[in-house]
Order: sequence, then C-alpha cells, then structure tokens
Amino acid sequence: MRSFSYGRARSLEEALTLAQRTDVTLLAGGTELLNWARIGIHRPERVLDISRVPGLTGITALESGGLRIGALTSLNAVALHAEVRERYPVLSQAIVQSASAQLRNLATIGGNPVQRTRCAYFRSDLPVPCNKREPGSGCAALNGINARHAIFGWTEQCVATHPSDPAVALSCLDAVYVTEHVEGGRRLPAKDFHVLPAEDPCAHNVLRHGEVITAIEVGPSAPRSAYVKVRERQSYEFALTSAAAVAEVRDEVITRARIALGGVAMRPWRLEQAEVSLVGLTVGSAQVKVAITSAFDDARALSSNAFKIPLSRNTALRAFQLAARVR
Ligand SMILES: Cc1cc2nc3c(=O)[nH]c(=O)nc-3n(C[C@H](O)[C@H](O)[C@H](O)COP(=O)(O)OP(=O)(O)OC[C@H]3O[C@@H](n4cnc5c(N)ncnc54)[C@H](O)[C@@H]3O)c2cc1C
Ligand code: SF4
Repeated sequence: MRSFSYGRARSLEEALTLAQRTDVTLLAGGTELLNWARIGIHRPERVLDISRVPGLTGITALESGGLRIGALTSLNAVALHAEVRERYPVLSQAIVQSASAQLRNLATIGGNPVQRTRCAYFRSDLPVPCNKREPGSGCAALNGINARHAIFGWTEQCVATHPSDPAVALSCLDAVYVTEHVEGGRRLPAKDFHVLPAEDPCAHNVLRHGEVITAIEVGPSAPRSAYVKVRERQSYEFALTSAAAVAEVRDEVITRARIALGGVAMRPWRLEQAEVSLVGLTVGSAQVKVAITSAFDDARALSSNAFKIPLSRNTALRAFQLAARVR
C-alpha cells in the first residue's frame, strides 16, 4: 500500500472546505476505502476522516412521518433501531444480510451505497481492459467471466452490477440522499443515485468531488416489506440476486407496490411497470405472478448468466409475497 496523509475533520464546514482539494478522499467507516487503496483501485493522497463530524449520526423522526438517518450511523445501529425494524423491515433485513457483524459495526449507511462494483476485472491485480478502471480500455467481462454480471441496463462498455444490499432497500422505499457541498447541497432520489453504463460507463454514482452525504431520509412507514437475498453461501457474501419489496394491501387487494432488484444492474433496478400492474390485484392471485414475470421481458443475458433471469424473477416474486404476507 502506498503512503498517504491522514487528517480528521472536526465540523461539517471544515470537511466540506477541505474536501474541495482534488487530492482529498473522504473516509467514513473505511471498510471499502482501505480495500481500494490496498488493491490499487484508488490511490489516495490525503485521507480526510469524517467519522467524528458532529451531527451526522443518529436516527430522528421527520414531521412528514418518515425518518432521517444520519449518514455516519453504522449499519448495525440502523438495522437494530426499533423504529427501523418495526416500520421499515426491508431496510433492517437488507442490512443484517450484508457483510459481517464486525464490518457492520464500522461501515456507515452513507458509505455503503458509495461502494464500487465487485466485478473481478475491476478489482484485478493484473492490468485487464476495464472502462471503470481505465476509461476507453474496453470491458474484459463482456465476453469473459460474467456469470455474476448484469441482466438489465448494461452496454458493451460495462456489464457490471452494483453490490450494495441497503441501497436496494432504500430504492424500494423511495429514499432520498441528502448532500452538502460548498456550492450547495442536493436531495437525490435513491433510484437516481447510481449511474448506468449508458449514462457513463466509468461512473458509479452522481456525487461531485467534495460532496458529502449528510443523511438519508425515508418516507412513511412500510411495515409490509421484505428483503430476499440469494447468494452462494449463507453469510459474508454479496448477492447473486436480491429483491426488496413493499406492499400495501386493503381487504386482500394490493393498493401500492414497490419492487427493486439487486445484483442485476449497475443500480438497484426498480420494476416500475410491475409496480403499476400490481395495484388492484388480489394478493396471492395468479395475476401477481404474471405482473412480476412480465417485468423480465426486457432482461438480456450475457454468455454465462442466463440463469439469473429466472433466479431474479423468483427472488422478486418471493420478496413480494413475503411483503404482502402471502405464505
Ligand atoms: C468482506 C466484505 C464483505 C462485504 N459484504 C457486503 C454485502 O454483502 N453487502 C453490502 O451491501 N456490502 C458489503 N460490503 C461492503 C461494506 O458494506 C462497505 O464497505 C461499507 O458499507 C462502506 O461503508 P464505509 O462507511 O466503511 O465507507 P468508506 O470505506 O469509509 O468509504 C467508501 C466510499 O464512500 C465515500 N463516503 C463515505 N461516506 C460518505 C459520505 N457521507 N458522503 C460522501 N461520500 C462518502 C468515501 O469517500 C469512499 O469513497 C462488504 C465489504 C467487505 C470488505
Ligand atoms: S463490467 Fe465494467 S467493471 Fe467489469 S470489466 Fe467491464 S467495464 Fe470493468
């Protein structure tokens, strides 16, 4: 690992000012950043630790009925929070199935969606074509080892997937990432936070240099919600596919539906057409399966990942059934 300088910000104002320098990289929990430095994906010159900036931790109620989650709150603190468990089980379940308990004690809810793809070529020790590592160099996964890669939203420039579990739940909950920057903060809807290869094959998310996520806001309660993660082993493993679902049901009729998939695209993939079609259907009816299945008509397999289409379709169906309490 190459050496870098380290400093700690004492206030948000100080963090925003110092983060303007082009050679400064922010550190929150450090569980992803130090990996990047170790394998050479990122060569930080100056690391600015924001983990002790006051005002960016904790969970508070919003007047709108939702919750404001400070960006530096640890993943475990979010997952174990009584209101999150009761009102947003999908988020709690997604976090508990992420990484390991030790990592979740350090890793933050703001840093988690900023993690980069686990594509093995992107993280390779050897120099291989990768547009995310070296813009314009090509994509080794397109015709290479791509069993874990995308089935939605890929282009020949990049076929990677985004690995975060919590980001899938946040997309499904229509969460908002609240940011600050010396030129002004923003409110970024979770479904637009990550960048698809068609928009920019080199990018991961829409954050500007020096932009700090200060909080993540979730809207009204979603007690009928669930997260299903399919992985090659039952712990300490990224998703092969995953699905987050929210259902609102009155007299057995679906009145609102939200479904987002993980492990299938460079962003949590919302099944927006299915969400519309599900409204008005009776829970557990055959039409529910038809509505969710049709959302996969646009899925495109690579050479080694055709299995992900039926797998993610069944994952989505299972998550929605669990959310709607169909057993
Ligand atoms: C072995 C292993 C297994 C894992 N398994 C999973 C898994 O199954 N599911 C899953 O979802 N994740 C998994 N992870 C990823 C882990 O959850 C992330 O590393 C972690 O959430 C990143 O958070 P952090 O606070 O440590 O980020 P850091 O490492 O501190 O930062 C990561 C990036 O985010 C930026 N950043 C951090 N905070 C902010 C902020 N507030 N505003 C703007 N930018 C910010 C940093 O500048 C940096 O670029 C795994 C990680 C490891 C090492
Ligand atoms: S899929 Fe994306 S990250 Fe992986 S090698 Fe291709 S360009 Fe790089």
